[in-house]
Amino acid sequence: MTVLDIRLFGDPVLRTVADPVGDPTGDDTLPTLIDDMLDTMDSAGGVGLAANQVGLTRRIFVYDCDGDRGHVIDPVWSAVGEDEQTAREGCLSVPEAGGPVTRFERVRLTGSTVDGTAVDREVDGLMARCVQHETDHLDGVMFFQRMEPAERRAVMGEIRGSEWFNR
Ligand SMILES: [Zn+2]
Repeated sequence: MTVLDIRLFGDPVLRTVADPVGDPTGDDTLPTLIDDMLDTMDSAGGVGLAANQVGLTRRIFVYDCDGDRGHVIDPVWSAVGEDEQTAREGCLSVPEAGGPVTRFERVRLTGSTVDGTAVDREVDGLMARCVQHETDHLDGVMFFQRMEPAERRAVMGEIRGSEWFNR
């Protein structure tokens, strides 16, 4: 088991758009990386983790949403229907802070797994939220950028007041 360092907000890698992986079977370092990302997510008690959060600008995320567990390489999602969900969201890269974020309720997720198997599934609820949050990371977008202005200001205040941000 290997737990990687989780990069915190303020680290430029979290603002970086990650590069596509392409054919995952051409890179024999990926299975270990994905195992390490899962270990890191579990150790931190998260439901998802994007590669940027461990300092790698590659389009990969791992997830464990109510037992739905795995990884996706080069994820792409699209909304299924127009229903939305609003719930408190947090992020392993923004310890202790959080607030309500509106996301699509149901999305179609495509991509691949590390052995090159295509991913193509519809997910809803927490898993749909996770897909949208983690794919945002791969585009250099933080969850609070999706918040309403007043709530976003409140989270920024929490961040500025936090010990980890002022270290
Ligand atoms: Zn996050």
